Amino acid sequence: MGLEGKVAIVTGASRGIGLEIAKHLAQAGARVACIATTQLNADNAVTLIGNGLSQGFACDVSDWQAVEGVFDRISDELGAPSILINNAGIARDALLMRMKDDDWDRVIGVNLKGAYLCTKAVIRPMIKARYGRIVNMASIIGLSGAAGQANYAASKAGLLGLTKSTAKELGSRGITCNAVAPGFIETDMTEELPKEMKGMVAKNAPAGRLGTPADVAHVVLFLVSEAAGYMTGQTLVVDGGLSL
Ligand code: NAP
Repeated sequence: MGLEGKVAIVTGASRGIGLEIAKHLAQAGARVACIATTQLNADNAVTLIGNGLSQGFACDVSDWQAVEGVFDRISDELGAPSILINNAGIARDALLMRMKDDDWDRVIGVNLKGAYLCTKAVIRPMIKARYGRIVNMASIIGLSGAAGQANYAASKAGLLGLTKSTAKELGSRGITCNAVAPGFIETDMTEELPKEMKGMVAKNAPAGRLGTPADVAHVVLFLVSEAAGYMTGQTLVVDGGLSL
């Protein structure tokens, strides 16, 4: 899994799954650009990773000007990126009847448009190097749908279409693009779920528990490795068997 000399960008790296992915990539030797909404959050991630191989950047991934500016800085300060993990994501849950247009737009903007913009920003250096690894953080909700999460489910289902199209467009240039679809992972995002619901998830998953950020990070690490070079356009479900 040696990633020495490689530059990786992880969006949403300040907490939860993204932070764990950034830690694993840095442990494997990559220089990691940690993106979060504020410089403080991004720098906290760098402190937590703590091995001198990462740098923090503030960027709203749904804003093209911000993405373009930060990705140019990353290339200048760390080197050309060959790994992109589109992990930044939010949820704004409501039943369709009560959903606010702003909540629809924001969730699609961050989760789906954000991945599109970040992918667009790394294509050129990856094509030049004839090498790249892109991983999009989807969700089992994008596969199954969920009442009260139409915006979130649509954004995650959209990511699967983006993943397959990117794989088809860039496969001949040595660039792979895959998606990971986690189930229920213990992070800030799932913190507020009722205890009973977490109990039900643990009971119904063959693994008998909720997932950890490390469960997801291990799969991402495989997808960005040389070993996964012949795998593209795929979705790997990491849910302890919950969706079986
Ligand atoms: P989390 O703990 O809530 O962290 C979200 C991350 O995204 C934070 O680093 C946050 O940065 C960043 N972020 C939010 N809006 C952003 C924006 N506009 N621009 C840049 N960064 C932004 O989430 P998580 O649970 O680790 O989830 C990570 C990903 O996995 C998400 O895409 C989520 O949909 C997906 N996922 C999670 C689960 C789960 O059970 N947790 C299941 C399936 C899929 P700040 O700290 O600066 O706010």
